[in-house]
Amino acid sequence: MGRVMVLGSLNVDLVTRVERHPRPGETLLGEGLEQLAGGKGANQAVAAARAGAQVAMVGCVGDDAGGAAYVERLRGHGVDVSCMRVVEGEASGHALIAVDDRGENTIIVIPGANARLDDTEVDAVDDLGPGDVLLVQLEVPLPVVCAAVRRASHRGARVVVNTAPYAALPDDVVALADPVVANEHEMVALAESGAVASSLLVTFGANGASWDGETVPAHSVAAEDVVDTTGAGDAFCGALAAALAEGSDRAEALDRALAAGAAAVRHAGAQPDPHL
Ligand code: ADP
Repeated sequence: MGRVMVLGSLNVDLVTRVERHPRPGETLLGEGLEQLAGGKGANQAVAAARAGAQVAMVGCVGDDAGGAAYVERLRGHGVDVSCMRVVEGEASGHALIAVDDRGENTIIVIPGANARLDDTEVDAVDDLGPGDVLLVQLEVPLPVVCAAVRRASHRGARVVVNTAPYAALPDDVVALADPVVANEHEMVALAESGAVASSLLVTFGANGASWDGETVPAHSVAAEDVVDTTGAGDAFCGALAAALAEGSDRAEALDRALAAGAAAVRHAGAQPDPHL
């Protein structure tokens, strides 16, 4: 069975509730403060580990309590954190989230250590070989993502590229991915960029997913059971990578990813029990 390496972001999400959002220059009181595990990289690493894969996380945190707690959390999920790097004098990635009475969010993302990935992280990919899977998203510096994709591919590993949040990628990186995983919006942007994927898996929310044109319906979830769709795409990608590393064929890997995506919309937050 191959291993899954996830190169990407970790965010500490700080969430408070407000009656309404403050105007510029205004101070308001928030009610409650939750500290939740987020960041696409770590969300996907946890999802892959829960799907039964042997997972290593490659990324950076700052030298703060939130980052340390997050690394411990990953360890608790059985994720290999030996390639996680602490950047001295830097903050861990944070998202400051205010939710008002109408459910509207304002979110400030502070990339912090997520912006500090460099060649050290690219070198970690040298550990991979045939049968292994490198899973990346675009929430960390693109040159590092691209170098890691090329290196992993050169070493014979399979590369899965999730184009979230969307950014234009070099043609060769798009072509190396097997598959590129994009949601509907990202698919449109990717098509407009002119890059051609060798293998393209598009997710359509409640309408399932389509891999190179073959569409499979979602695992159905009753409307009243849909609690929060945040993180559905991350659960999907993590489970997909786990299945591919295990040697599943396309149909089975897609089915396991659809099952994980459906499970994710049944709970709040981007990871199961996301409190840090
Ligand atoms: P993203 O969250 O990245 O925009 P999608 O909304 O396409 O991604 O969702 C990713 C996957 O999660 C879908 O392909 C599907 O498997 C699952 N999913 C999302 N919403 C639902 C839903 N309402 N019911 C069942 N599965 C869902």
